[in-house]
Amino acid sequence: MINFNDFNFHPSIQESIDAMGFTKPTPVQIKTIPVISENKDLIACAQTGTGKTAAFLLPALQKILVNGDFNGTKLLVVVPTRELAIQIDQHMQGFSYFLPVSSIAVYGGGDGETWDQQKTAIAAGVNVIIATPGRLISLISLNYLKSETLQTLVLDEADRMLDMGFYDDIIKIIGALPKERQTLMFSATMPPKIRLLARKIMNSPEEVNISIAKPAEGVLQGAYLVHDDQKSPLIMDLLHDKPELKSILIFSATKKNVKSLNKQLKSDGLSCAAIHSDLEQPERLTVLSDFKNKKFQVLVATDIVSRGIDIDNIDLVINYDVPSDAEDYVHRVGRTARAESTGVALTFINSKEVRSFQNIEQLIGSEVHKIPLPRHIGEGPQYVISKSRYEGKPFRKGRSKDSRRQGKKRN
Ligand code: AMP
Repeated sequence: MINFNDFNFHPSIQESIDAMGFTKPTPVQIKTIPVISENKDLIACAQTGTGKTAAFLLPALQKILVNGDFNGTKLLVVVPTRELAIQIDQHMQGFSYFLPVSSIAVYGGGDGETWDQQKTAIAAGVNVIIATPGRLISLISLNYLKSETLQTLVLDEADRMLDMGFYDDIIKIIGALPKERQTLMFSATMPPKIRLLARKIMNSPEEVNISIAKPAEGVLQGAYLVHDDQKSPLIMDLLHDKPELKSILIFSATKKNVKSLNKQLKSDGLSCAAIHSDLEQPERLTVLSDFKNKKFQVLVATDIVSRGIDIDNIDLVINYDVPSDAEDYVHRVGRTARAESTGVALTFINSKEVRSFQNIEQLIGSEVHKIPLPRHIGEGPQYVISKSRYEGKPFRKGRSKDSRRQGKKRN
């Protein structure tokens, strides 16, 4: 298994990855980071929710650090919308938290003050610019952008930019950039017009394709918003007296939960077994094969073993916790509703997991129905978007040389 240490990022970058709570790279990161780190051009077919932002920001940051020159603009990310520009800048601020790298999101609208702030930052050679095409062109035509130092250009959501009619703007922007640069293009789809654009602006790009299966049509997906202490009564309620469900699979994040849930379900009279990393491989295989042969009704499994469970035709999947990897969700939900049958996938979301669940909804491209809790279980938490710890920070300049020398960290 590949983990972040394998990419040999600068310790300060690794520190920020840890601070963001990323424990293992996503498939798009595993495939693209090595290519980008070799300074190659790249076209990647990847949707929002796959971790593509970190896939290009981390190696681009590494390149800035390796060169050790923090003067001037090094990375330009062109995006279709203001929201995406802000979101990427928040990621950037998170990843560069321990570094002397400055960044700004540049987009249209806003007041005179915003415009002045953007002009000043760009003229001063802010290290990283994340911009929408229109506003960037205004800044280029007023000669604010100093692009001679540019190392990397990223076109994010390239298909959407073309759909929005930004083709000419992109060509104009690229005309103002140095020819010696690395160009990366991320796009959710790969229509011929994207390939044509790539041929025009890139240098023998490598291609990476991360296609994600969407959950099958027949799966009924639902979610409950719960406080942690409501999970156990809710699961008992859902599983009580359901002989028609022959195979039920429950996933939980921790071994401890898996063990206690298994115990609790057994004491309630359900036929069930647990699978987790404490079991030896032969024991795991026996449990899986018994489950496949419908010798018991409920299998409780940890996330760790979830990918290894290759059993289809499950009647009900319950995510006792929100899977931290959005693709795991798709994979699990896909265990139900094979071959014209219908299946049900239910997820318990506590207030801390709302954001992760929104990533999942973004990845699958639809909102999952939130089912009200049965009255006797009480009120659950609200579905409120939790804010990133890095959100709302204003544009900041890089740390001064002095503080850098002293190794001080920003607050
Ligand atoms: P993106 O596809 O870049 O919009 O990312 C989707 C979400 O996944 C964002 O909230 C990221 O913070 C999160 N994310 C990106 N990479 C990882 C990772 N390796 N582990 C956990 N979460 C991640």
